[in-house]
Formats: sequence, structure tokens, C-alpha cells
Amino acid sequence: MEISYENTKDCKVMTGKMALPNQYFAGRVGSKFIIALRDEHKILGVRCEKCNKVFVPPREYCEKCLSKLDESWVELSNEGVITNYTVVNYNDKHLPRRAPYILALVKVDGADTPFPHIVEGIDVEDVKVGMKVKAVFAEETTNTIRDLDHFEPL
Ligand SMILES: [Zn+2]
Repeated sequence: MEISYENTKDCKVMTGKMALPNQYFAGRVGSKFIIALRDEHKILGVRCEKCNKVFVPPREYCEKCLSKLDESWVELSNEGVITNYTVVNYNDKHLPRRAPYILALVKVDGADTPFPHIVEGIDVEDVKVGMKVKAVFAEETTNTIRDLDHFEPL
């Protein structure tokens, strides 16, 4: 059977809306990470002793050697460095901020892996790789990664 994308005269297009209620299961490791952000304003990671690497966000198993890491917690700094970034230049109701805003990879001090988060308190033209930033925690909890509201320059 040959499919032609040119000939659409026989194709019917239906427009509709789809609601997809869902739940995200953070698991034991993800839950402990979010609870520490929420209740203690602390960023936790896990260390793989075999690989000498600290992962943030924490995960249950090392991605390299598959060692179990859920008992290897380390408390990390609330300060870090921007290792990469992009400027989000479009608006969508599902995005956490109005455009333009900075979405950066932030590697907190003591971690070996960066994680993506919002950077505020600086013009989007002035963000740079290597910039030192600190965590700013949300005043009201959402029980999500957004209890760490954003990072801002030191
Ligand atoms: Zn490992």
C-alpha cells in the first residue's frame, strides 16, 4: 500500500479537545528530594562511591555502574554555576513563566550533574555560562521541583 501525503481529498480531519488527568509518581528517591526542598530548603543528591559522582536530581541507581544509590544521600550547596542555558521566547499556558525567560542548566556546588531550572533577577541578554547563581525557594509550596522557585545571580 502506498501512502500519499499529497492527496488529502479523502482525509477527514476532526478537531477536538482531549483531557488527560494523570498522576506522576515521584517514588521514594524523588519524594525525599522534593520534601527536602519544601521543608528544609535543601538540595539533596546521591553519591555513587564506585564512580565518585554525585547526581542531582537524585536517582535510585547509578546510570554508569547501576549501583543502588538510595542510601547514599548528600546535602549540597544552594549555590552553583550555569553550565548552559537557553532563552525561552514564546508563551504557552503550560510554561512556568512569561517569555522571555532564562532556562538554564545549573550545577550546584558539590554535584557532578546539572539540572534545568529557571534563572531570574537578570536581563536575558546578560546571562552567561559560568555565572554563579543561588537558589531562591518558593514562599508557598506546590510539592514539586518548583518549591525551588528559581536561581538568581550571586
Ligand atoms: Zn556508579
